[in-house]
Amino acid sequence: MRETKSKTLQRRADAILKKCRLNKPISNQDISQLIDELTLYQIELENNNEDLMKAQVELNDARRKYIELYDLAPAGYFVINKEGLIKEVNQAGCDLLGLRKHALINRCFSRYIASEFKALFSDYRRRAFKELSLQSYELKLLSWNQPSFYAFIECKAVKSSHTGCHQLLTFVTDISARKCMEDTLHQQRIKMASIDRLRSLNEFIYAIAHDQNYSLMMMSNYLNGSIRRLEKGHYHIDELLNILKKAACQSHALADIILRRKYVTSKSIFRYEYDNINTIISQTISLLIHEMIEFPVTIQYEKTDTLSMVKLDKFHIQQAILNLARNAIEAMRDSNIKEPKLLIEAAQTKKDMIEITLFDNGPGLVEELIPKLFEPHYTTKSYGIGLGLTVSRAIIEKHGGQLFALSNPSGGACFGFTLPCLTPLK
Ligand code: ADP
Repeated sequence: MRETKSKTLQRRADAILKKCRLNKPISNQDISQLIDELTLYQIELENNNEDLMKAQVELNDARRKYIELYDLAPAGYFVINKEGLIKEVNQAGCDLLGLRKHALINRCFSRYIASEFKALFSDYRRRAFKELSLQSYELKLLSWNQPSFYAFIECKAVKSSHTGCHQLLTFVTDISARKCMEDTLHQQRIKMASIDRLRSLNEFIYAIAHDQNYSLMMMSNYLNGSIRRLEKGHYHIDELLNILKKAACQSHALADIILRRKYVTSKSIFRYEYDNINTIISQTISLLIHEMIEFPVTIQYEKTDTLSMVKLDKFHIQQAILNLARNAIEAMRDSNIKEPKLLIEAAQTKKDMIEITLFDNGPGLVEELIPKLFEPHYTTKSYGIGLGLTVSRAIIEKHGGQLFALSNPSGGACFGFTLPCLTPLK
C-alpha cells in the first residue's frame, strides 16, 4: 500500500519535472495538490514510524524479560561445542563457577570439573554427541570463589541453527546441600551399623552359648561320672571307656557346631549409586581414627585420578575396606611391627574394572592357609570371631567383584578386591 502511494507520488513528481523540462508552466494547482499529497504521505510515514517504535519497545521489553529469565534461571546453562569449549553461558552458570561471562567463553568446560570427575564428564559428553539423547549425572565442580560443590548435570546435543553443528545444551544445578544431608545420613548409618554389629555379635554369642550349653552339660556329666567311678575304684574299664567316648563325641559335636555355624546377618539393603572410589577410600581411612590412636600406622594412599565411576553401595564398600584395613592393623600390632605401614592402592586394571589393594608389612600369610581365611569363624586371634573376611567377600561378590589375598613377596600380606566400573565409550 505504502509502495503504491510512493510510486504514485513519484509519477506525479516525474510529470511535473517533465513539464519543467519542456518549459511548460507548472500550475499552482499542481503544486498545492503535490504538497497536499506529500503532507498526507508524511503523516502516514510518521504513523508507521510510531508503530515501528512501539514494536521496537515491545521487542526490547520481551528481549529484556527473556534475558532476565535466561540469566536468573535456577540452573546454570552452558552451551558447549564438540571440542568441549563453552560457547554460551547464563548468569546463573557464571555465579556457580564464580567467574564472569567473558572469562568463561571459549574456555574448556572440563577446567571447572574436579580432577576425579573429568573422565566421567568426557564419557558422558561423547555419549551425548553419539546418542543424541538426554544424559544426566552428578559430578563435582570447581568454583573460583567458593569451595568445590556437587552438581547435577543434564545435557543434550542439538544442532545449532547458526553453525549447523551439534552443540551440547548443558543444565547445571548445585546439589551440595542434598549431598551434605546424604553424608550426614551416611555417617549416621555407619554409627548405626556399628551398634547393629555389636548387637548381632551379642546375639551371636548368646546363640552359641545357648546351643552349646546342652553339649557342655552332657560332657560335664560324662566326665564327672567317670571321675566319681575312678575315685571310688568301682568301675569296669569298658564301661569307663564307653562314657569317655561319649564325652569325646559331645566335644566333637560342639566343635562341629562352632565351625559350621553360619553368620546370619540381618538382611542388608544395598543402595547402589555411581560414586568415586577415591573419595570412598579417603573417607574410610578417616574412620580408622580409633585404631590409629591405639597403634599409630603410616597409611599411604596411592590413588589414580582418572578412575571410572563405580556403581556401588558406599556404606557396604566402606565396611569391606574397613574390615581389610583393621585386619592389617591388628596383624601388625599383634606382631609388634616397629614401623607399621599400610599402603592402599586404587587402579584401573581394565576398561571395565578397578582394583583396590591393601599391602601391610605385618607377619604375612601362609600360602596354603589362604583359602581357609575366608571360611566363616576361621580366626587366629584370641579376640577374633573370624567373620570379617566372610562378610567382606559377600559384600564384594554382591557388587560383581572378587576378594583376594596374596602373600606379599616383599613381606606382609596383601588383600584386595576388584569392582566392575562404568565403561568409557570407544
Ligand atoms: P578375625 O579378624 O575376627 O580373625 P577375619 O575373617 O577378618 O576374622 O580374618 C580371618 C583371619 O585371617 C585372621 O584371624 C588372620 O589370621 C587372617 N588375616 C586377615 N588379614 C590378615 C593380615 N592382613 N595379615 C595376616 N593375617 C591376616
